[in-house]
Amino acid sequence: MKAGEKHVEEIETKGDLMVALVYPNGYELAGSNLGFNLSWKYLNQLERVRCERFFFDESFERFYSIDTQTPIDQFSVWAFSFHFENDIVNIMKLLLRKSVPLRNVDRSQSHPIVLFGGALCYTDLPLLNVLADVILHGDIESMLPQLNEVLRPASRSELLQAFGDLPFATVPVLGKKRESFSHCADLDFFVPVSPLICKFGEFAHKLLVEIERGCIHRCAYCMMGKLKKPARFLSLERIASVLQKHDSVGLVASNVADYPWLDELIDLLEESKVSVSVSSLRMDRLSERFLKFLKKHQKSFTVALESASERLRNVLKKDLTEEQIEKAFQLSREANFSEIKVYFMFGLEEETERDLMAIGNVARHLLELGFKTVKLSINPLVPKRGTEFEERTMQEEKILRQKMKIISSSLPARVKVHFESLKHSRIQFFINRMDEDLAEKLLLKVQQSESPERVINDVARAV
Ligand code: SF4
Repeated sequence: MKAGEKHVEEIETKGDLMVALVYPNGYELAGSNLGFNLSWKYLNQLERVRCERFFFDESFERFYSIDTQTPIDQFSVWAFSFHFENDIVNIMKLLLRKSVPLRNVDRSQSHPIVLFGGALCYTDLPLLNVLADVILHGDIESMLPQLNEVLRPASRSELLQAFGDLPFATVPVLGKKRESFSHCADLDFFVPVSPLICKFGEFAHKLLVEIERGCIHRCAYCMMGKLKKPARFLSLERIASVLQKHDSVGLVASNVADYPWLDELIDLLEESKVSVSVSSLRMDRLSERFLKFLKKHQKSFTVALESASERLRNVLKKDLTEEQIEKAFQLSREANFSEIKVYFMFGLEEETERDLMAIGNVARHLLELGFKTVKLSINPLVPKRGTEFEERTMQEEKILRQKMKIISSSLPARVKVHFESLKHSRIQFFINRMDEDLAEKLLLKVQQSESPERVINDVARAV
Protein backbone atom coordinates (compact mmCIF):
# COMPACT_ATOMS: atom_id res chain seq x y z
CA MET A 1 0.00 0.00 0.00
CA LYS A 2 2.72 2.45 0.95
CA ALA A 3 3.98 2.21 -2.60
CA GLY A 4 0.95 4.33 -3.46
CA GLU A 5 2.23 7.31 -1.48
CA LYS A 6 5.18 9.68 -1.53
CA HIS A 7 6.22 11.20 1.79
CA VAL A 8 7.12 14.87 1.63
CA GLU A 9 7.83 15.17 5.33
CA GLU A 10 9.58 12.72 7.56
CA ILE A 11 7.30 11.47 10.32
CA GLU A 12 9.23 10.13 13.25
CA THR A 13 7.39 7.40 15.15
CA LYS A 14 9.30 7.27 18.41
CA GLY A 15 7.02 7.33 21.48
CA ASP A 16 6.08 4.56 23.86
CA LEU A 17 2.29 5.02 23.86
CA MET A 18 1.03 3.10 20.84
CA VAL A 19 -1.85 4.93 19.10
CA ALA A 20 -3.55 3.29 16.11
CA LEU A 21 -5.06 5.93 13.85
CA VAL A 22 -7.80 4.14 11.92
CA TYR A 23 -9.53 5.36 8.79
CA PRO A 24 -12.66 3.21 8.73
CA ASN A 25 -12.72 2.78 4.99
CA GLY A 26 -10.41 1.86 2.08
CA TYR A 27 -6.79 2.94 1.71
CA GLU A 28 -7.56 5.04 -1.37
CA LEU A 29 -9.91 7.20 0.69
CA ALA A 30 -7.61 7.28 3.72
CA GLY A 31 -4.56 8.31 1.68
CA SER A 32 -6.38 11.20 0.07
CA ASN A 33 -8.04 12.48 3.28
CA LEU A 34 -6.18 15.54 4.50
CA GLY A 35 -7.67 15.41 8.01
CA PHE A 36 -6.48 11.82 8.45
CA ASN A 37 -2.97 12.54 7.21
CA LEU A 38 -2.67 15.67 9.35
CA SER A 39 -3.81 13.76 12.45
CA TRP A 40 -1.09 11.19 11.82
CA LYS A 41 1.52 13.93 11.56
CA TYR A 42 0.31 15.88 14.61
CA LEU A 43 -0.10 12.85 16.88
CA ASN A 44 3.47 11.80 16.13
CA GLN A 45 4.64 15.23 17.26
CA LEU A 46 3.48 14.42 20.80
CA GLU A 47 6.38 13.43 23.06
CA ARG A 48 5.21 9.99 24.15
CA VAL A 49 3.05 8.94 21.19
CA ARG A 50 3.90 6.50 18.47
CA CYS A 51 1.06 6.75 15.98
CA GLU A 52 0.63 4.36 13.05
CA ARG A 53 -2.05 4.26 10.39
CA PHE A 54 -4.66 1.60 9.72
CA PHE A 55 -7.52 1.33 7.30
CA PHE A 56 -10.45 -1.00 6.78
CA ASP A 57 -11.01 -3.64 4.19
CA GLU A 58 -13.84 -6.17 4.16
CA SER A 59 -11.36 -9.03 3.76
CA PHE A 60 -9.30 -8.14 6.89
CA GLU A 61 -9.53 -10.31 9.96
CA ARG A 62 -6.30 -9.16 11.58
CA PHE A 63 -5.42 -5.52 11.14
CA TYR A 64 -1.82 -4.44 10.54
CA SER A 65 -0.50 -0.90 10.38
CA ILE A 66 0.44 0.53 6.99
CA ASP A 67 3.60 1.95 8.52
CA THR A 68 5.32 -1.02 10.18
CA GLN A 69 2.90 -3.93 9.79
CA THR A 70 2.39 -4.03 13.56
CA PRO A 71 -0.90 -5.73 14.55
CA ILE A 72 -3.54 -3.42 15.98
CA ASP A 73 -3.76 -5.54 19.16
CA GLN A 74 -0.46 -3.99 20.29
CA PHE A 75 -1.91 -0.48 20.35
CA SER A 76 -3.42 0.95 23.56
CA VAL A 77 -5.50 3.67 21.89
CA TRP A 78 -7.58 3.07 18.75
CA ALA A 79 -8.35 6.50 17.33
CA PHE A 80 -11.00 6.48 14.63
CA SER A 81 -10.95 9.40 12.24
CA PHE A 82 -14.67 9.58 11.57
CA HIS A 83 -16.00 11.62 8.62
CA PHE A 84 -19.02 9.74 7.23
CA GLU A 85 -21.86 8.12 9.15
CA ASN A 86 -21.83 4.98 7.02
CA ASP A 87 -18.23 4.24 8.05
CA ILE A 88 -19.52 3.44 11.52
CA VAL A 89 -20.60 0.05 10.17
CA ASN A 90 -16.95 -0.67 9.36
CA ILE A 91 -15.89 0.50 12.83
CA MET A 92 -18.33 -1.97 14.37
CA LYS A 93 -17.04 -4.75 12.13
CA LEU A 94 -13.46 -4.02 13.14
CA LEU A 95 -14.30 -4.02 16.85
CA LEU A 96 -16.26 -7.27 16.51
CA ARG A 97 -13.47 -8.98 14.59
CA LYS A 98 -11.01 -7.98 17.30
CA SER A 99 -13.40 -9.08 20.10
CA VAL A 100 -13.73 -5.57 21.54
CA PRO A 101 -17.22 -5.05 23.02
CA LEU A 102 -19.26 -2.51 21.10
CA ARG A 103 -20.70 -0.79 24.17
CA ASN A 104 -18.18 1.25 26.16
CA VAL A 105 -19.66 0.02 29.47
CA ASP A 106 -18.79 -3.58 28.55
CA ARG A 107 -15.06 -2.89 28.08
CA SER A 108 -12.49 -3.72 30.73
CA GLN A 109 -8.87 -2.81 31.56
CA SER A 110 -7.56 -5.20 28.89
CA HIS A 111 -9.35 -3.37 26.08
CA PRO A 112 -7.97 -0.45 24.08
CA ILE A 113 -9.34 3.08 24.46
CA VAL A 114 -11.80 3.53 21.57
CA LEU A 115 -11.48 7.19 20.61
CA PHE A 116 -13.39 9.19 17.99
CA GLY A 117 -12.42 12.45 16.31
CA GLY A 118 -12.96 14.04 12.91
CA ALA A 119 -15.61 15.94 11.01
CA LEU A 120 -18.66 14.28 12.59
CA CYS A 121 -17.44 15.08 16.09
CA TYR A 122 -18.17 18.77 15.47
CA THR A 123 -21.62 17.85 16.72
CA ASP A 124 -22.91 15.42 19.36
CA LEU A 125 -24.03 12.03 18.03
CA PRO A 126 -25.80 10.01 20.76
CA LEU A 127 -24.59 6.74 19.19
CA LEU A 128 -21.02 7.72 20.05
CA ASN A 129 -21.97 8.12 23.72
CA VAL A 130 -22.63 4.38 23.79
CA LEU A 131 -19.84 3.25 21.44
CA ALA A 132 -16.89 5.53 22.22
CA ASP A 133 -14.66 5.70 25.28
CA VAL A 134 -13.53 9.18 24.31
CA ILE A 135 -14.84 11.71 21.78
CA LEU A 136 -12.64 14.67 20.86
CA HIS A 137 -14.65 17.60 19.51
CA GLY A 138 -13.19 20.14 17.11
CA ASP A 139 -9.89 21.02 15.45
CA ILE A 140 -6.98 18.78 16.40
CA GLU A 141 -4.34 21.53 16.08
CA SER A 142 -5.50 23.44 19.13
CA MET A 143 -5.87 20.23 21.16
CA LEU A 144 -2.20 19.30 20.84
CA PRO A 145 -0.69 20.90 23.99
CA GLN A 146 -3.32 19.22 26.20
CA LEU A 147 -3.15 15.91 24.33
CA ASN A 148 0.59 15.98 24.90
CA GLU A 149 -0.07 15.91 28.65
CA VAL A 150 -2.71 13.17 28.45
CA LEU A 151 -1.30 10.76 25.88
CA ARG A 152 1.32 8.98 27.99
CA PRO A 153 1.64 5.32 28.93
CA ALA A 154 -0.92 4.62 31.65
CA SER A 155 -3.69 2.18 32.45
CA ARG A 156 -7.01 2.40 30.62
CA SER A 157 -8.74 3.93 33.64
CA GLU A 158 -5.97 6.49 34.19
CA LEU A 159 -6.15 7.52 30.55
CA LEU A 160 -9.92 7.89 30.72
CA GLN A 161 -9.62 10.07 33.81
CA ALA A 162 -7.00 12.24 32.12
CA PHE A 163 -9.17 12.66 28.99
CA GLY A 164 -12.03 13.59 31.30
CA ASP A 165 -10.15 16.76 32.33
CA LEU A 166 -10.05 18.08 28.76
CA PRO A 167 -12.75 20.66 28.00
CA PHE A 168 -13.17 19.48 24.39
CA ALA A 169 -13.53 15.78 25.33
CA THR A 170 -16.58 13.66 26.06
CA VAL A 171 -15.90 10.56 28.18
CA PRO A 172 -19.28 8.82 28.41
CA VAL A 173 -18.39 6.16 31.00
CA LEU A 174 -17.38 8.94 33.41
CA GLY A 175 -20.52 10.93 32.63
CA LYS A 176 -18.23 13.72 31.35
CA LYS A 177 -19.58 15.85 28.49
CA ARG A 178 -17.62 18.31 26.41
CA GLU A 179 -17.67 21.89 27.64
CA SER A 180 -16.45 23.41 24.37
CA PHE A 181 -15.13 22.71 20.91
CA SER A 182 -11.44 23.00 20.20
CA HIS A 183 -11.03 25.82 17.68
CA CYS A 184 -7.94 26.49 15.59
CA ALA A 185 -8.15 30.23 14.95
CA ASP A 186 -4.96 30.60 12.94
CA LEU A 187 -4.26 28.24 10.03
CA ASP A 188 -0.98 30.08 9.41
CA PHE A 189 0.46 28.83 12.66
CA PHE A 190 0.07 25.17 11.67
CA VAL A 191 0.00 25.40 7.86
CA PRO A 192 -2.27 22.43 7.13
CA VAL A 193 -0.34 20.63 4.40
CA SER A 194 -0.41 16.86 3.97
CA PRO A 195 2.81 15.07 4.94
CA LEU A 196 2.36 12.75 1.96
CA ILE A 197 1.13 12.63 -1.62
CA CYS A 198 -1.21 9.80 -2.52
CA LYS A 199 -1.65 8.43 -6.01
CA PHE A 200 -5.36 7.79 -5.51
CA GLY A 201 -8.51 9.87 -5.23
CA GLU A 202 -9.83 13.15 -6.49
CA PHE A 203 -6.47 14.82 -5.81
CA ALA A 204 -4.24 11.97 -7.00
CA HIS A 205 -0.50 12.89 -7.17
CA LYS A 206 -1.20 16.31 -5.66
CA LEU A 207 -0.01 17.77 -2.40
CA LEU A 208 -3.10 18.71 -0.37
CA VAL A 209 -3.10 22.22 1.07
CA GLU A 210 -6.02 23.44 3.16
CA ILE A 211 -6.53 27.09 2.28
CA GLU A 212 -9.90 27.50 4.01
CA ARG A 213 -11.43 25.88 7.06
CA GLY A 214 -15.14 26.40 7.80
CA CYS A 215 -17.38 28.26 5.41
CA ILE A 216 -18.72 31.77 4.93
CA HIS A 217 -22.09 30.51 3.63
CA ARG A 218 -25.11 29.27 5.59
CA CYS A 219 -26.74 26.38 3.70
CA ALA A 220 -29.50 24.98 5.90
CA TYR A 221 -28.58 21.31 5.36
CA CYS A 222 -24.85 21.65 6.06
CA MET A 223 -22.98 21.42 9.35
CA MET A 224 -20.11 23.53 8.07
CA GLY A 225 -22.33 26.56 7.56
CA LYS A 226 -23.42 26.43 11.19
CA LEU A 227 -20.77 24.81 13.35
CA LYS A 228 -17.48 25.62 11.66
CA LYS A 229 -17.66 29.38 11.94
CA PRO A 230 -15.97 31.69 11.39
CA ALA A 231 -14.22 30.62 8.20
CA ARG A 232 -10.44 30.82 8.42
CA PHE A 233 -7.98 31.17 5.54
CA LEU A 234 -4.34 30.33 4.98
CA SER A 235 -2.38 33.47 4.08
CA LEU A 236 -0.85 34.04 0.66
CA GLU A 237 2.62 34.10 2.27
CA ARG A 238 2.17 30.60 3.65
CA ILE A 239 0.77 29.29 0.37
CA ALA A 240 3.74 30.86 -1.45
CA SER A 241 6.18 29.04 0.81
CA VAL A 242 4.45 25.71 0.05
CA LEU A 243 4.55 26.40 -3.70
CA GLN A 244 8.30 26.97 -3.59
CA LYS A 245 8.82 23.30 -2.82
CA HIS A 246 6.03 21.58 -4.77
CA ASP A 247 4.84 21.61 -8.34
CA SER A 248 1.42 19.99 -8.04
CA VAL A 249 -1.18 20.96 -5.42
CA GLY A 250 -4.79 20.21 -4.53
CA LEU A 251 -6.42 23.21 -2.88
CA VAL A 252 -8.75 22.07 -0.11
CA ALA A 253 -11.52 24.50 0.88
CA SER A 254 -15.29 24.60 1.28
CA ASN A 255 -15.11 26.71 -1.82
CA VAL A 256 -11.81 27.87 -3.30
CA ALA A 257 -13.50 30.84 -4.95
CA ASP A 258 -14.35 32.24 -1.49
CA TYR A 259 -10.65 32.81 -0.85
CA PRO A 260 -10.48 36.53 0.04
CA TRP A 261 -7.36 37.23 -2.05
CA LEU A 262 -8.34 35.09 -5.04
CA ASP A 263 -6.75 37.26 -7.75
CA GLU A 264 -3.45 37.37 -5.87
CA LEU A 265 -3.68 33.61 -5.37
CA ILE A 266 -4.13 33.08 -9.11
CA ASP A 267 -1.10 35.38 -9.75
CA LEU A 268 0.92 33.30 -7.36
CA LEU A 269 -0.16 29.97 -8.86
CA GLU A 270 0.56 31.23 -12.38
CA GLU A 271 4.01 32.53 -11.42
CA SER A 272 4.86 29.27 -9.65
CA LYS A 273 3.74 27.26 -12.70
CA VAL A 274 2.26 24.59 -10.45
CA SER A 275 -0.41 22.17 -11.53
CA VAL A 276 -3.62 22.76 -9.50
CA SER A 277 -6.87 20.95 -8.68
CA VAL A 278 -9.83 22.25 -6.74
CA SER A 279 -12.99 20.54 -5.51
CA SER A 280 -16.64 21.56 -5.97
CA LEU A 281 -17.28 25.28 -6.49
CA ARG A 282 -20.07 27.66 -5.59
CA MET A 283 -21.64 29.25 -8.63
CA ASP A 284 -21.98 32.78 -7.28
CA ARG A 285 -18.24 33.28 -6.85
CA LEU A 286 -16.92 32.29 -10.27
CA SER A 287 -15.12 34.95 -12.28
CA GLU A 288 -13.97 34.88 -15.89
CA ARG A 289 -10.35 34.99 -14.82
CA PHE A 290 -10.70 32.18 -12.29
CA LEU A 291 -12.46 29.86 -14.75
CA LYS A 292 -9.91 30.53 -17.50
CA PHE A 293 -7.14 29.79 -15.03
CA LEU A 294 -8.86 26.61 -13.91
CA LYS A 295 -9.36 25.38 -17.47
CA LYS A 296 -5.59 25.17 -17.91
CA HIS A 297 -5.51 22.66 -15.04
CA GLN A 298 -8.79 20.72 -15.11
CA LYS A 299 -10.77 19.36 -18.00
CA SER A 300 -14.05 19.47 -16.12
CA PHE A 301 -15.45 21.36 -13.20
CA THR A 302 -18.01 20.62 -10.54
CA VAL A 303 -20.66 22.89 -9.09
CA ALA A 304 -23.30 22.37 -6.40
CA LEU A 305 -26.61 23.78 -7.63
CA GLU A 306 -28.67 21.56 -5.24
CA SER A 307 -32.04 22.59 -6.68
CA ALA A 308 -33.20 23.70 -10.09
CA SER A 309 -35.83 25.89 -8.43
CA GLU A 310 -34.94 29.23 -6.89
CA ARG A 311 -37.82 28.84 -4.44
CA LEU A 312 -36.30 25.60 -3.11
CA ARG A 313 -32.79 27.02 -3.10
CA ASN A 314 -34.19 29.68 -0.77
CA VAL A 315 -35.56 26.94 1.50
CA LEU A 316 -32.10 25.36 1.44
CA LYS A 317 -30.56 28.81 2.08
CA LYS A 318 -28.32 28.17 -0.90
CA ASP A 319 -28.44 31.87 -1.80
CA LEU A 320 -28.04 31.40 -5.56
CA THR A 321 -30.12 33.39 -8.05
CA GLU A 322 -31.05 32.33 -11.60
CA GLU A 323 -28.88 35.18 -12.94
CA GLN A 324 -25.82 34.01 -10.98
CA ILE A 325 -26.30 30.46 -12.24
CA GLU A 326 -26.73 31.50 -15.86
CA LYS A 327 -23.67 33.73 -15.65
CA ALA A 328 -21.57 30.89 -14.20
CA PHE A 329 -22.66 28.49 -16.99
CA GLN A 330 -21.91 31.10 -19.66
CA LEU A 331 -18.51 31.94 -18.20
CA SER A 332 -17.51 28.31 -17.98
CA ARG A 333 -18.36 27.77 -21.65
CA GLU A 334 -16.42 30.89 -22.57
CA ALA A 335 -13.50 29.42 -20.63
CA ASN A 336 -13.88 26.41 -22.93
CA PHE A 337 -15.03 23.82 -20.41
CA SER A 338 -16.85 21.06 -22.24
CA GLU A 339 -17.45 18.81 -19.24
CA ILE A 340 -19.47 19.77 -16.19
CA LYS A 341 -20.70 17.92 -13.13
CA VAL A 342 -23.64 19.32 -11.19
CA TYR A 343 -24.85 18.25 -7.75
CA PHE A 344 -28.57 18.22 -7.03
CA MET A 345 -30.56 17.33 -3.95
CA PHE A 346 -34.14 16.08 -3.76
CA GLY A 347 -36.54 14.92 -1.05
CA LEU A 348 -37.71 18.22 0.45
CA GLU A 349 -41.29 18.30 1.66
CA GLU A 350 -41.81 21.62 -0.19
CA GLU A 351 -40.85 20.04 -3.55
CA THR A 352 -43.39 19.80 -6.38
CA GLU A 353 -43.33 17.71 -9.55
CA ARG A 354 -42.49 20.86 -11.47
CA ASP A 355 -39.41 21.50 -9.26
CA LEU A 356 -38.17 17.98 -9.95
CA MET A 357 -38.80 18.22 -13.70
CA ALA A 358 -36.77 21.45 -13.71
CA ILE A 359 -33.59 19.37 -13.24
CA GLY A 360 -34.16 18.10 -16.77
CA ASN A 361 -34.47 21.70 -18.00
CA VAL A 362 -31.08 22.56 -16.50
CA ALA A 363 -29.50 19.50 -18.12
CA ARG A 364 -31.00 20.38 -21.53
CA HIS A 365 -29.80 23.95 -21.18
CA LEU A 366 -26.25 22.77 -20.47
CA LEU A 367 -26.28 20.63 -23.63
CA GLU A 368 -27.65 23.57 -25.65
CA LEU A 369 -24.84 25.76 -24.30
CA GLY A 370 -22.41 23.31 -25.86
CA PHE A 371 -21.25 21.11 -22.97
CA LYS A 372 -20.30 17.75 -24.48
CA THR A 373 -20.46 15.87 -21.19
CA VAL A 374 -23.01 16.66 -18.53
CA LYS A 375 -22.89 14.60 -15.35
CA LEU A 376 -25.49 14.91 -12.62
CA SER A 377 -25.05 13.60 -9.12
CA ILE A 378 -28.45 13.53 -7.41
CA ASN A 379 -28.73 12.85 -3.69
CA PRO A 380 -31.67 12.57 -1.33
CA LEU A 381 -31.78 15.14 1.46
CA VAL A 382 -30.47 13.64 4.70
CA PRO A 383 -31.42 16.14 7.43
CA LYS A 384 -28.68 16.07 10.07
CA ARG A 385 -27.94 17.11 13.61
CA GLY A 386 -26.09 20.38 13.93
CA THR A 387 -27.83 21.85 10.87
CA GLU A 388 -30.91 24.03 10.49
CA PHE A 389 -32.73 20.96 9.21
CA GLU A 390 -32.17 18.90 12.35
CA GLU A 391 -35.88 18.95 13.19
CA ARG A 392 -36.81 17.55 9.76
CA THR A 393 -37.05 13.93 8.85
CA MET A 394 -35.97 12.05 5.75
CA GLN A 395 -38.77 11.34 3.31
CA GLU A 396 -40.11 7.78 3.01
CA GLU A 397 -38.44 5.49 0.54
CA LYS A 398 -41.65 5.11 -1.50
CA ILE A 399 -41.91 8.87 -1.99
CA LEU A 400 -38.22 9.21 -2.82
CA ARG A 401 -38.50 6.45 -5.44
CA GLN A 402 -41.42 8.25 -7.07
CA LYS A 403 -39.42 11.45 -7.12
CA MET A 404 -36.43 9.67 -8.68
CA LYS A 405 -38.74 8.42 -11.45
CA ILE A 406 -39.99 11.93 -12.13
CA ILE A 407 -36.43 13.31 -12.28
CA SER A 408 -35.29 10.46 -14.56
CA SER A 409 -38.22 11.05 -16.91
CA SER A 410 -37.20 14.69 -17.26
CA LEU A 411 -33.60 14.04 -18.30
CA PRO A 412 -32.29 14.10 -21.86
CA ALA A 413 -30.73 10.80 -22.97
CA ARG A 414 -27.21 12.21 -23.35
CA VAL A 415 -26.88 13.14 -19.68
CA LYS A 416 -24.98 10.86 -17.30
CA VAL A 417 -26.79 10.58 -14.00
CA HIS A 418 -25.91 9.03 -10.68
CA PHE A 419 -28.47 8.71 -7.89
CA GLU A 420 -27.06 8.12 -4.42
CA SER A 421 -28.27 4.79 -3.00
CA LEU A 422 -31.40 5.24 -0.90
CA LYS A 423 -30.34 2.41 1.41
CA HIS A 424 -27.03 4.13 2.01
CA SER A 425 -28.73 7.46 2.67
CA ARG A 426 -31.27 5.89 5.03
CA ILE A 427 -28.47 4.35 7.12
CA GLN A 428 -26.68 7.70 7.15
CA PHE A 429 -29.85 9.37 8.47
CA PHE A 430 -30.48 6.63 11.00
CA ILE A 431 -26.95 6.74 12.42
CA ASN A 432 -26.96 10.52 12.58
CA ARG A 433 -30.33 10.86 14.26
CA MET A 434 -30.78 7.86 16.58
CA ASP A 435 -31.05 8.59 20.30
CA GLU A 436 -29.07 6.89 23.04
CA ASP A 437 -31.77 4.36 23.95
CA LEU A 438 -31.95 3.12 20.39
CA ALA A 439 -28.15 3.14 20.16
CA GLU A 440 -27.98 0.86 23.23
CA LYS A 441 -30.47 -1.58 21.71
CA LEU A 442 -28.76 -1.49 18.33
CA LEU A 443 -25.29 -2.19 19.69
CA LEU A 444 -26.58 -5.11 21.79
CA LYS A 445 -28.20 -6.61 18.68
CA VAL A 446 -25.16 -6.03 16.49
CA GLN A 447 -22.90 -7.57 19.16
CA GLN A 448 -24.86 -10.84 18.85
CA SER A 449 -25.05 -10.85 15.09
CA GLU A 450 -22.97 -12.19 12.23
CA SER A 451 -23.77 -9.23 10.02
CA PRO A 452 -23.77 -5.69 11.50
CA GLU A 453 -24.86 -4.33 8.14
CA ARG A 454 -28.02 -6.41 8.03
CA VAL A 455 -28.99 -5.56 11.63
CA ILE A 456 -28.43 -1.83 11.08
CA ASN A 457 -30.38 -1.92 7.86
CA ASP A 458 -33.27 -3.86 9.45
CA VAL A 459 -33.47 -1.53 12.47
CA ALA A 460 -33.18 1.55 10.23
CA ARG A 461 -36.11 0.34 8.12
CA ALA A 462 -38.21 -0.46 11.19
CA VAL A 463 -37.97 2.97 12.87
S1 SF4 B 1 -22.93 23.40 1.54
FE1 SF4 B 1 -20.95 24.24 0.95
S2 SF4 B 1 -21.34 26.43 0.69
FE2 SF4 B 1 -23.04 25.64 1.88
S3 SF4 B 1 -22.47 25.96 4.03
FE3 SF4 B 1 -21.83 23.88 3.44
S4 SF4 B 1 -19.72 24.06 2.80
FE4 SF4 B 1 -20.62 26.12 2.80
